[in-house]
Amino acid sequence: MGEISVKKDISEMSLAFVGAGKMAQAMAKGFLAAGVVKADHITATAPSCRSQDTLEGIGCQFTHNNKEAVANSDIIFLSVKPHVLPGVLQEIAPVVTKRHLMVSVAAGVPLQFLEEKLPPKSRVIRVMPNTPCVVRQGASVYVPGSHVEKEDSEIIKSLLSSLGYCSESNEGMISAVTGLAGSGPAYAFTAIDALADGGVKMGLPRELSIKLAAQTLLGASKMVLETGKHPMQLKDDVCSPGGTTIYAIHKLESGGFRNLLIDAVEGACLRADAIA
Ligand code: NAD
Repeated sequence: MGEISVKKDISEMSLAFVGAGKMAQAMAKGFLAAGVVKADHITATAPSCRSQDTLEGIGCQFTHNNKEAVANSDIIFLSVKPHVLPGVLQEIAPVVTKRHLMVSVAAGVPLQFLEEKLPPKSRVIRVMPNTPCVVRQGASVYVPGSHVEKEDSEIIKSLLSSLGYCSESNEGMISAVTGLAGSGPAYAFTAIDALADGGVKMGLPRELSIKLAAQTLLGASKMVLETGKHPMQLKDDVCSPGGTTIYAIHKLESGGFRNLLIDAVEGACLRADAIA
């Protein structure tokens, strides 16, 4: 996780999450775990009280008042569902000023739309994060809008880097990023559950199976990231001639494993485009 020097002291900045659901909570918890933002500098909003206990439990403030939260904060994470966002933008636009750096995490909502709904020259950044931010192993990209200054991008890069991998991208790629990384944790959870089912089928206790499956994916991921080797080279390295692993790979290929994963990424990407 790269350290970036930003002129403004991020730890002194106040953050608001408009929408206090899964993504907002994952990011807020990640920021606190990373120590980049103070808990009492984070406010989250939602119309219901469902997330109130969780957020107040980690020291954040909770309110039902979107405008008040925006007015009192420097960086605003728009973390409501995409279909709710137009109404929220209309509601908060009157209190958005030059002070605010607006950050949308909503899938499929273009920068142009966000900029049109907010006051002229609003500083808007589009981000596609994922929920492993909560354990600071997220994978995020951000796309600066037309009126964003260099320092705004550096602030967002610094914040997102504290939550895991992060890079700047262009908007043409963001639906594909959504299909791969935004939705990707769900594919991995499903894979872990299915691998654990395999273990249970072959006689392992459920708890041990889940741990072995999760740790195996974690270890394999770390090998890809830390050795720099191509995944298929690492796969070849563990397939001995006539051994157990190549028999399993044959089963995966027969079942269309790769095609399914490619289809999954494509499906989520096209859905992100359709939401737009
Ligand atoms: P969620 O349903 O868990 O959270 C949405 C939150 O918005 C809830 O707290 C809800 O009460 C609140 N809300 C609803 N109407 C509101 C309003 N008018 N004002 C303020 N708050 C309101 O959804 P989520 O999974 O956290 O997704 C939020 C956004 O994050 C979406 O736009 C999604 O595209 C994006 N995103 C989610 C993920 C993910 O894995 N969950 C990944 C990447 C991006």
